[in-house]
Amino acid sequence: MSRSSRRILLAFPGVPWMATWDSERSSTALLESVRGKGLRWFNEGPADRDKHGGLWARKTERIGQGKPQYAGVHPRRQRLAMELLLCHVCSGNSSVTVDGALWMEPIRPGEPLMPYTTHPPVCVPCAVESRERCKRIRRTGAHTVRVANPRPWGVIGMRYEPGANGVLAPKEPVEVAYDDRNIRWVLANQMIAYLDGVTRAMWGDLTQASKTSDASSKLLDDHAEGGALQLMRYGLRNAKKAKRVVKGTPRPHPEVVSVKGGTVVIRDCVDGTDWLNYKLNGEPEDDNPGSHFKADATVKRSDGAWRVSRLYMHESGSC
Ligand SMILES: [Zn+2]
Repeated sequence: MSRSSRRILLAFPGVPWMATWDSERSSTALLESVRGKGLRWFNEGPADRDKHGGLWARKTERIGQGKPQYAGVHPRRQRLAMELLLCHVCSGNSSVTVDGALWMEPIRPGEPLMPYTTHPPVCVPCAVESRERCKRIRRTGAHTVRVANPRPWGVIGMRYEPGANGVLAPKEPVEVAYDDRNIRWVLANQMIAYLDGVTRAMWGDLTQASKTSDASSKLLDDHAEGGALQLMRYGLRNAKKAKRVVKGTPRPHPEVVSVKGGTVVIRDCVDGTDWLNYKLNGEPEDDNPGSHFKADATVKRSDGAWRVSRLYMHESGSC
């Protein structure tokens, strides 16, 4: 890796670091294909591929020269921000606490957070400033969340196909996962990260509804559907009959087991030691201490949103 490819250019004041400038140029003149193996650069270096094997588009870096293009995303700067958890607005470190890195997704309040995103994290000052300055966020609002376990999932890029004469032709922009073999024909422009956010959001909804054992809570279908939704409603109806409510906060620790297309399988060991049963008069229902329990969840995309569709909660003490 040459010295220049390791250098990180700092952001220009007032312009998001990740945005492109009209003086920055892309070129695919040196892109070639190896039969059956996919794309490569004629003079490929280690910086051209990420550690998952994705091949990256090349673009010169001219921050501060010409006009900023706010809607454009510079491939290398977006990738660096994702890989190093840099703030994509100011190029400094993003805010990271024990709860994870700070993420801000422009989206209306009440809409579930998408677990897949091409927006890298932010720092606290930039998150505050973006809320005031960014037109899109002012219009739609934003989810601000801590993400304990962001991980690279795949890329957005251009799919190429070798023609009959051996000349590579760009075909279509695609989103492709790192574990998809077709990624070898894709020149990456942006990294897609998977955010462990959806199951946490579902547990948040369930915690709220459990405080009053409200099976008809409008919150429940925000992040759950199908079997998972039925299970939560069934549990809440039973609690209502037993004149029981649940107070405190369950602490999920989701781990992604597999990601395939629009389905994510998650295994969780939920810490329920601070999520206890109470009688309606506020007294603890019994002197059982709370415990950890295993939970399996399947998260699926439907109507453009991600929801937990299958949920299985194992018995107390199962993990
Ligand atoms: Zn920042």
